[in-house]
Amino acid sequence: PGADAIAAIRSGMTETPDFPSEGILFRDLSGLFADAAGLRTVASALVEGFGPIDAVAGVEARGFVLGAAAAVASGNGMLAVRKAGKLPGEVLNESYALEYGSASLEVHPSTLPQGARVVIVDDVLATGGTLTATIRLMERAGWDVVGVAVVLELVDLGGRAVVEAVTSAPVKALL
Ligand code: AMP
Repeated sequence: PGADAIAAIRSGMTETPDFPSEGILFRDLSGLFADAAGLRTVASALVEGFGPIDAVAGVEARGFVLGAAAAVASGNGMLAVRKAGKLPGEVLNESYALEYGSASLEVHPSTLPQGARVVIVDDVLATGGTLTATIRLMERAGWDVVGVAVVLELVDLGGRAVVEAVTSAPVKALL
């Protein structure tokens, strides 16, 4: 990413120890989301370099902000990857473990056409559980994951290897 994207992330991020539980250093990007120029720059940086795509998938909830901005920046729509229980009707579901707790994600398989080329966007790559579950959902729905992009990778947690074990698509972290 360019120097302006990195500067926007650094100035728009806060780090809070022991939130939401002991031992977690929580990274919050609310400041970046509220920074008009920074959000635009980071959104563009997230989706660039993956070649032609048909949609950006954003993971609830902070991935919605970045995913929607990245979708608009790249001339695409956004696929909302929802937390369990939010979508009516028939859904695909994938459970996963978080750095804290566990959860599951859902999509409607009819939201995009078969073979749609999708870039998955989220704020933080920690253990990789969230993105791994999202990749599985995309594949089960018949969509082609052509890239994975996050603002921040917590390298010490080793999530990249977990994600790269389930996809051959490039995994990009801006910071
Ligand atoms: P993981 O599934 O462990 O890769 O965790 C990634 C998801 O959890 C992302 O959607 C993040 O929003 C959130 N997350 C995990 N760890 C942190 C952290 N230290 N700071 C902020 N968000 C986090």
